[in-house]
Amino acid sequence: MRRVSILGATGSIGQNTIDLIARAAGEYDVVALTGAGNIAQLAQDAIALRADIAVTAHDHLLDDLRDALQGSGIDAGAGKAAIIEAASRPADWIMSAIVGAAGLAPGLAALEQGTTLALANKESLVCAGRLVLETAGRHGTKILPVDSEHSAIYQALIGEDLKAVERIIITASGGAFRDWPVDKLCEATLDQASNHPNWDMGQRITIDSASMFNKAMEVIETHEFFDVSPEQIEVLVHPQSMIHALVGFNDGALMAHVGPPDMRHAIGFALHHPERRQLPVERLDLAAIGSLEFRAPNEGRWPALRLARETMQAGGMMGAVFNAAKETALDGFIAGRINFPQMAEVVEDVLARIAASDGHIAATMTLDNVLQIDHLARQAAQDAIHKRAG
Ligand code: NAD
Ligand code: MG
Repeated sequence: MRRVSILGATGSIGQNTIDLIARAAGEYDVVALTGAGNIAQLAQDAIALRADIAVTAHDHLLDDLRDALQGSGIDAGAGKAAIIEAASRPADWIMSAIVGAAGLAPGLAALEQGTTLALANKESLVCAGRLVLETAGRHGTKILPVDSEHSAIYQALIGEDLKAVERIIITASGGAFRDWPVDKLCEATLDQASNHPNWDMGQRITIDSASMFNKAMEVIETHEFFDVSPEQIEVLVHPQSMIHALVGFNDGALMAHVGPPDMRHAIGFALHHPERRQLPVERLDLAAIGSLEFRAPNEGRWPALRLARETMQAGGMMGAVFNAAKETALDGFIAGRINFPQMAEVVEDVLARIAASDGHIAATMTLDNVLQIDHLARQAAQDAIHKRAG
């Protein structure tokens, strides 16, 4: 039996992963499930999958979790250290699907096992790509990307010579405000931003899709994971989300990955790799779809794409600054403190401010240094939000 753990089990990726595992429950020995506020879901899944341990990120919910697991024989844990401990429990396959920079330390702990990490937590590559890849390299851990675009690129590269890659094109649906007039974006509400035209995902990544910060993160993720230069990465708006990414080779060929917008494909690919197994995803009827649409991204509408390029050009630990500023700006928008376009303004302010205070982004990339610069960037972002919120 394969031992599996899911970090971020109660979220959108976590629940899709559980869906696939529950369909073949006899094949898996579930070690650890982690969550945060949704104790009922965490306990229900831990009991159904007969996990060894369930852990919530919130210390104060330990008693609730214990109560919910009572009589099941399943261990309960709470807090950051308990999540890292759960990530370190021996497993053959671990899904990293916590949202945000909070996923970095547990992901690194999982990588130290030397087995396989399915990586949905894109923030860890954006914040600390080199550290993540070096940790994997040192322990001989295989990383399989679970972001749909990166799974698509990975699949298009199988059997190919990386030296023959000219460019990588990642597609973007354009999110909720693709067709809105740019000058109306300051009126966008939280509800409107939380509604994705094609994908059913967690709220944070859905809003990031509307602002294109999700794509900006994915460009950095591509640069880090596939070791291609920023100039080799293009973003293409493709409203139907059927083509997830394309790899362009030096003979002019483009290899596209086409499939329905369903994360269970990328998750299932990573779960069964190197085998391909039947997955419960829709089979596309291209004749019925008829045509696919593509547009160049308008950087006036989506400044996040320019900010991602500037972040990659600055290098060092600027990715951690970018991510922390983006997460804080997103919190500011969710809390109603800043409007939708102000999220990009806040990130731009923070990048400029931290780039000017030399030393930080050039520091050695260790977990402590990343967390420290993450903290500084969050403070700078709070100041930038405060300036706007009054
Ligand atoms: P989500 O918000 O639905 O779920 C997040 C999970 O993280 C939950 O289990 C939650 O309990 C846990 N969590 C939240 N804060 C935590 C903290 N401080 N410490 C520990 N755990 C915490 O998010 P999601 O949409 O499933 O996304 C998860 C990750 O996968 C993100 O990095 C996202 O960018 C990436 N991703 C998601 C999708 C998608 O379709 N949802 C697609 C591609 C990539
Ligand atoms: Mg994606």
